[in-house]
Amino acid sequence: MTEYDNKNGNNDGQNSYEDVCFICHRPESKAGRMFKLPNNICVCDDCMHKTMDSMSQFNFQGMMPPFYDFSGMAGQAGNTNSAVQEEKKPEKAEIVENEEETDNPEKKDGDKGTKAPTHGFPNISFINLADLQNMGGIPQRQKIKKKKEGEKSKPVIDIKDIPAPHKIKAQLDEYVVGQEHAKKVISVAVYNHYKRVATGTMDDIEIEKSNMLMIGPTGCGKTYLVKTLARLLDVPLAIADATSLTEAGYIGDDIESVVTKLLAAADNDVEKAESGIVFIDEIDKIAKKKNTNSRDVSGESVQQGLLKLLEGSEIEVPVGANSKNAMVPLATVNTRNILFICGGAFPGLEEIIKQRLSKQTGIGYQAELKDKFDRDKNIHSKVTVGDVRKYGMIPEFIGRLPILFTLDGLSKESLVKILKEPKNAILKQYQKLLELDEVKLEFDEGSLEAIAEKALKKETGARALRALIEEFMLDIMYEIPKDDNIGRVTITREYIEGTGGPVIDIRSNSVQRIEELNEVKE
Ligand code: ADP
Repeated sequence: MTEYDNKNGNNDGQNSYEDVCFICHRPESKAGRMFKLPNNICVCDDCMHKTMDSMSQFNFQGMMPPFYDFSGMAGQAGNTNSAVQEEKKPEKAEIVENEEETDNPEKKDGDKGTKAPTHGFPNISFINLADLQNMGGIPQRQKIKKKKEGEKSKPVIDIKDIPAPHKIKAQLDEYVVGQEHAKKVISVAVYNHYKRVATGTMDDIEIEKSNMLMIGPTGCGKTYLVKTLARLLDVPLAIADATSLTEAGYIGDDIESVVTKLLAAADNDVEKAESGIVFIDEIDKIAKKKNTNSRDVSGESVQQGLLKLLEGSEIEVPVGANSKNAMVPLATVNTRNILFICGGAFPGLEEIIKQRLSKQTGIGYQAELKDKFDRDKNIHSKVTVGDVRKYGMIPEFIGRLPILFTLDGLSKESLVKILKEPKNAILKQYQKLLELDEVKLEFDEGSLEAIAEKALKKETGARALRALIEEFMLDIMYEIPKDDNIGRVTITREYIEGTGGPVIDIRSNSVQRIEELNEVKE
């Protein structure tokens, strides 16, 4: 940097080299008079002046003792010309920060600038998160909810408030069609889990966590079941997608981001989040990749990373962001009482089950025909832990999801029921919408079956229903408000299949008819 003769450790001006400014790198001949600082450092008049100037304007959060009067020093530096050295500021900042890191390592973490040193530069911290929060620099969602002092923390869940399994199932029945076995298993598991949360440990018998793994084809109601459950129990729920998770340090969401989501769902209330539910969808996508030589950052490594969360541990999660960095506050969340439910379609699992079953029954007297299992529609329900393991889930991971159950693919009858029976069934929603226009909407049985048949062909379960209904309701929703005389619309199979139109009853007619009837009665 500076090009003085260092042989004698001093620079007395007798040598043949010019002094060079340590900050702006201009030589003596251009920058003029130099200030000589210890360690053979020279700073030109301009830079010294600018440094003193900016220091005297900077309020070191009240850290400077009163005898630091920079303005006087700046005066000493004399007048300056206009050449501005833009690099100066960052360099200064760097020096100070470095000093902080090397001189005072224990200061580094935790209390960044919150404890003001009583004097001196070296401990100056340039980022004071607490101040930023006060200024509103950090958005609301990054604030952690404080526990009110003096308020005795009341348990988030009271054991008396937990509904019995049959009550949980009865409530689920109002929304979720079919899936009787799944509803039963989940009701019991959730009941036990929250009993465990409410009581802490029961004497010396510690009740184990009832994390679950549910397997079922797409659109059969896995997410819907968990969503309904969380709403009924009034606990925060986070839904995460396993496909976006990667090992820490790789592109994608950190594994711990699932807990961050839960914290956000709980309004950044750590205590509430600690008794919430995390649903990780598409869990089959993190199965161990077969025949790979490269590092499996989104497969097996994610399973490894999840182990810690499933088991229960204290983890530091960034509040309001998916990854940790200097500007994001951290909160410590204990995952011990968080219920983890993993779900996935596990395509190809049938083959593994079939193979196992036909091996078992393939030899000897009880041998069965191999294609017997090909015709079995609910082959999924015969799944065992071994099959899931063969699919690519590591044993430690499955071991932490002790409750394994399956959901059935939806039949035509179930799809018809889904259309009309649940509390917030799609048809009911449309009927309500048209009711506001004083029009009655009806669907005859044939139309419902036609919709279900069409949906089955799409092979996306109940998810296809809404798209189909939206499609053919578009014309009706567009045309009906045009004509005030329409009193009732009946959707028919022909309309769904495109071979006819809906049956429309005109209001005036029906009014007339009622009047005629009344006259006859009289
Ligand atoms: P997935 O199993 O792929 O997670 P979802 O739970 O997201 O499927 O289901 C998609 C939609 O289908 C839900 O929002 C819900 O409206 C409907 N649905 C699916 N299964 C059922 C069911 N058994 N009962 C009522 N509605 C259902």
